[in-house]
Amino acid sequence: MNKMKWSCPIVGLDLDNTVINYGLSARKFALSNDMHGIENISQLREFYKRNHQDKAWSRVQEWIYTEGLLFATVNNGLKELLSQLKTFDYPTYIISHKTKVSVNGLDLWGPARHWIAENLGNYFEPLSEIVFFEETREKKIARISHQKITHFVDDLQDVLLEPNFPSNVRKFWIKEESGVIRHPSITKLERLEELLNYV
Ligand SMILES: [Mg+2]
Repeated sequence: MNKMKWSCPIVGLDLDNTVINYGLSARKFALSNDMHGIENISQLREFYKRNHQDKAWSRVQEWIYTEGLLFATVNNGLKELLSQLKTFDYPTYIISHKTKVSVNGLDLWGPARHWIAENLGNYFEPLSEIVFFEETREKKIARISHQKITHFVDDLQDVLLEPNFPSNVRKFWIKEESGVIRHPSITKLERLEELLNYV
């Protein structure tokens, strides 16, 4: 008998800025607030951080994650990735750290679920068993372990570098622009479909 064991890859994807691209939402926000030279969400975040406007940034995020979702797009290479994963029959989950309500009490989970159903409904079905929202980063990491994820993609290296991040999960950092990898355990992807080289 063949004793070689093959375990099926199980892919986990972060939601905000990994599955969902808020580039257009950020540009739309910047334009209507007379801010110039903002091309993407990182530049918008940088602007507020640089000016120590954390409270204002929370309100911007609230807009981005609710009304701003109207302008959000499916991230580059995601559909190509998902159709291949579907062909291979590799389980794929979305695991998001997102509070249920915003600073001003707006529902954040509902609009996000709705966006996923509208834009990626045929890849993530049934939504309730495939998409997970967790209130804290700790719970997000616990969920990654619980779903037995083997490959996880996030736009934040901080998440991948948390001390309790499971060591048997391969870590992928998605960032279109150039950037410095902070730990050798991390692989950088410029487009999500590059993940296919590793599963
Ligand atoms: Mg994210």
